[in-house]
Amino acid sequence: MAFKRMDGFVGSVPQGFIDRNVKICPFCGTDAPHWNIDQKMQMKLEGNLYLFQCERCKGVLASPVPDVTGYNKTALTTTGFLKKMSGKKNGVIYMRIYDAGNNEEYKDKIGTEYTLQEINDIASKKAGNSVQETKYY
Ligand SMILES: [Zn+2]
Repeated sequence: MAFKRMDGFVGSVPQGFIDRNVKICPFCGTDAPHWNIDQKMQMKLEGNLYLFQCERCKGVLASPVPDVTGYNKTALTTTGFLKKMSGKKNGVIYMRIYDAGNNEEYKDKIGTEYTLQEINDIASKKAGNSVQETKYY
């Protein structure tokens, strides 16, 4: 499956999730990332992954499907329980740097996990920095 916008009924959950929660790309700082979505099937306890790709820099964030669809809000579900056992907080969404895209400085951060809050902190700093950088070019 290739990256694409998921505006139809089936894709509206992940598309709404990323569009609402990550408004600035943490890789390149654009405030119009136009996230494209792919799904990665994997045989792991965390379940399948949603991949979110920034249209501008091709950087990719990944998040387990149950996080995105909200099933981890309760410890009663299997994934919520496993998350608790691994020391992660329920109700907190974790995202991973999956691909650095055109951003060389993120290449050594591939696989690093951040909370949604941290992603947004990085993104807002990035957005601020990119404005400053353009002044000097
Ligand atoms: Zn980007």
